[in-house]
Amino acid sequence: MDEPTPRQADVQLVWFKRDLRVRDHLPLTQAARRGPVIGLYLYEPRLLDAPEVDAAQLLFINESLAELRAALGALGVQLLLRVGRAVEVLGALHTQLGFTHIWSHLEVGVWESFQRDRAVARWARAAGVRWVELPQGGVRRPNPDRDDWAADWERVVGQPMIPAPARAVGARPPPGPLGALVEPAALGVGALARVERQPGGEAAAWETLRTFFTARGVNYRADMASPLSGWTGCSRLSPHLAFGTLSARQALHATWRREGQVDRARRAGEPVDPRWEASLRSFHKRLRWRCHFMQRLEDFPTLDREPIHAGYAELRAGLHRPARWAAFARGETGFPFIDACLRCVLATGWLNFRARAMLVSVATWTFHLDWRPVGQLLGRAFLDYEPGIHWAQVQMQAGLVGINTPRLYNPTKQAEDQDPEGVFIKRWVPELSRLPVPFVHRPWETPPLLALSLGFQAGRDYPLPLVDPRQTQQESRAELSELRADPAIWRESARVLARHGSRRRPPPRWR
Ligand SMILES: Cc1cc2nc3c(=O)[nH]c(=O)nc-3n(C[C@H](O)[C@H](O)[C@H](O)COP(=O)(O)OP(=O)(O)OC[C@H]3O[C@@H](n4cnc5c(N)ncnc54)[C@H](O)[C@@H]3O)c2cc1C
Repeated sequence: MDEPTPRQADVQLVWFKRDLRVRDHLPLTQAARRGPVIGLYLYEPRLLDAPEVDAAQLLFINESLAELRAALGALGVQLLLRVGRAVEVLGALHTQLGFTHIWSHLEVGVWESFQRDRAVARWARAAGVRWVELPQGGVRRPNPDRDDWAADWERVVGQPMIPAPARAVGARPPPGPLGALVEPAALGVGALARVERQPGGEAAAWETLRTFFTARGVNYRADMASPLSGWTGCSRLSPHLAFGTLSARQALHATWRREGQVDRARRAGEPVDPRWEASLRSFHKRLRWRCHFMQRLEDFPTLDREPIHAGYAELRAGLHRPARWAAFARGETGFPFIDACLRCVLATGWLNFRARAMLVSVATWTFHLDWRPVGQLLGRAFLDYEPGIHWAQVQMQAGLVGINTPRLYNPTKQAEDQDPEGVFIKRWVPELSRLPVPFVHRPWETPPLLALSLGFQAGRDYPLPLVDPRQTQQESRAELSELRADPAIWRESARVLARHGSRRRPPPRWR
């Protein structure tokens, strides 16, 4: 039996989800204005059971929670940690605390979290509790149309920053422990073999942002093309944005500040590296893209299970081969750059955009694998797994959105362009470390005498290519052309564009 705590007036429960910070946290600020506050973070086994969840993400969350608990403590607010189904935990806490309001950010998640939110909303109505869900990142609920979304994004997200409440009045916690951080294994969450990982927490987020804007980001526009230069040249803010140790608004305001600095320095004739302007512009654009794709999931919450374009539901149907899938998932496809990218992301949780796009494109258009397990494997590998961006991008790269030109990559050309010396390949595919250029990019062409002198044998020490890309890509193109011969496909594309497309640059065909 839950023991009731002596009744307190107007207790406000702040439910933290993917927003693990105290600054720029509107639900916390609003709650603090209304009454005594108590915080809650919920480990939900049902959501943690998803194939995209990995221990590394949970460890990042735990580090962020430890910092959040301390930051809230400094405000006089306790953070409760609980494990269980949302309605059950909330019901038990309601009996103990009698809170009148739940405050949270509106969560943009896949179907399970959407269903969880519906159940919580039903429970709250029945219990006479007001659940206030506040949007962030410019995501709208409901979103009747996309017409003014892009134009409005900067204004909505650029609203003044919300400081942490000066000192909130903390509500008395229920009797018993506040709840401890829970290890992934205790929640049944498995761990990929990682060699390193970005640390969680607000302090790490701001330090990452500082080093990007003061030094690392100067050549961002060019560096982002390759996983090698992108490692330090990209912002690396993605896990912080995904778990909310940094908000989209904080990132946008920081970008404006840095853009202003660079602009003023240039006008004053002070020395400033000219590459900053283009790099900051590119970064700024990507902050908007992130929210654009999250809105797509909000408007189509089954993005992880069905194509957004109904006409492509049967694309590549029946072609998935378990042996090809196993080779891809192990990073043993016989294409060195593909294998290096996959092994890198499995071990570190990060890859640059182009390499992520290439992995999905090659897996689907070239290896003919089903996009769902590919998306699940990569989602689990990414430390920054953000369902809205992730599934929108997986579908786009797999050609299931129907409003972008599909990009089919030549895996060997990508290797030669992005990793001309084979440095990245040799780091992640040590079997090839003795091969010189150009054979590190195409080990199957190593001349027999050279192979003999190096003690290397293609097919024994490293797999032969899984497929002939020219042939499989030709098959993919032929299937696509056949599908596109049906006018219904174009009508559906127009519908997808109207409902989910960006209004920045409509493709001429549908204008
Ligand atoms: C198949 C695929 C899956 C992806 N899955 C995720 C994911 O789960 N989580 C995630 O955060 N990003 C995802 N991305 C987008 C992008 O690759 C990553 O945001 C980026 O590589 C993260 O590194 P960064 O923070 O250094 O990025 P930066 O290049 O420094 O970009 C800054 C921020 O902008 C946003 N962003 C950058 N590129 C994009 C883009 N193309 N679309 C939308 N937002 C963007 C991200 O929030 C990122 O943190 C995916 C891309 C592809 C092709």
